[in-house]
Amino acid sequence: MGDLFAEQLQALRARSLHRTLREIGSAQGSIVDLVGKRLINFSSNDYLGLANDPRLRDAATAAISEFGVGAGASRLISGTQSPHLQLESALAKWKGTQAALCFSSGYAAAVGTLPALVGKSDVVLLDKLSHASLIDGAKLSGATLRVFPHNHLGKLESHLEWAKREHPNARVVVVTESVFSMDGDRVPLRELIELKKRFRALLLLDEAHALGVIGPNGRGLAAEEALNEDVDVQMGTLSKALGVSGGYICGSRSLVEWLINRARSFIYSTASPPVLAAAARAAVEFLASPEGEDRRLQLWKRIELMRRNLPQDRQSTLREKPRPASAIFPWIVGDEQGAIDLSRALQAEGFLVPAVRYPTVAKGSARLRITVTAAHEEAQIMALTDALRRLSPAT
Ligand SMILES: *Cc1c(COP(=O)(O)O)cnc(C)c1O
Repeated sequence: MGDLFAEQLQALRARSLHRTLREIGSAQGSIVDLVGKRLINFSSNDYLGLANDPRLRDAATAAISEFGVGAGASRLISGTQSPHLQLESALAKWKGTQAALCFSSGYAAAVGTLPALVGKSDVVLLDKLSHASLIDGAKLSGATLRVFPHNHLGKLESHLEWAKREHPNARVVVVTESVFSMDGDRVPLRELIELKKRFRALLLLDEAHALGVIGPNGRGLAAEEALNEDVDVQMGTLSKALGVSGGYICGSRSLVEWLINRARSFIYSTASPPVLAAAARAAVEFLASPEGEDRRLQLWKRIELMRRNLPQDRQSTLREKPRPASAIFPWIVGDEQGAIDLSRALQAEGFLVPAVRYPTVAKGSARLRITVTAAHEEAQIMALTDALRRLSPAT
């Protein structure tokens, strides 16, 4: 057994694609402790700095006192405790949908929901840069899968025409994200919705990186563009800007009822601990409050500052230039080893900015994925942009 994978691992190392874990010995925040070394953290999705917020900690402590730690059973058996239902009603109210359903992760939401929506005789049309959880959910469903080039609505239209012609009785679901996780750009939502309506297709929109960042009170891109009604399945995660853990689907009451009956990752898995539901509810209530909106506007100030000071030529061409689209700033290096080297050099100067490589992004498009949060100080952002300018090899 010992050497079973040695060769394969060596092959990964040889291609600079080997990955290892790094141990953080502190809570999440703009500064983290990498076993003994304090680093300014530009790697997390805790966009609003809520992961260690006293409001969430207090809600969690109170929930532990009342409900303990484990949920004891799956949601359909006896694992649905009051905090789960309170979170779901707070989420539905905040998102302005009839109902919401929580999963133990965003990943579980995707791989549970897609196979419940479509089966072998149906069609899924997926943006090329969609998150792995959406790809896996689509594959697991057994539906015919067609990928369209990133944000390419012309190609999506021809796929929709093809589906209508070749699979006239199929349910067709378009799957995409509002903010793309590795490039930080946005979907042209209004145009995409016009298309899907014209072809009577359904839309599953993953708002993982828009939630808490975009839209009134951080309700996401669909809310910002007043298109909530046209997104059939709204997916997101409680693990990023909301600072906790878990995934959700928001939509109609009948959608949620169907998922309770059919989503296997929901049915056949123990309910997520009630403490997490209580903390996530505190996060939703914070975002819905004027203080939460202030925190989100603070995040946008930091995003603008990063935008102004990060040299433009090394950012992905995918981003709209005049205005930053999100809190994610890709710093494209290209080759895998180059990205690792730059990440190491930054770490030596006190910054945590991991390299992102294949298969998370395409081969040859390795990058640093820089994320800004409301918890960053201006000086921290200036220090990073200075270091990047000095350390990046000329293009
Ligand atoms: C992180 C992420 C997920 C998965 O959410 P988790 O709660 O971390 O499992 C799904 N979709 C996208 C776009 C993501 O970035």
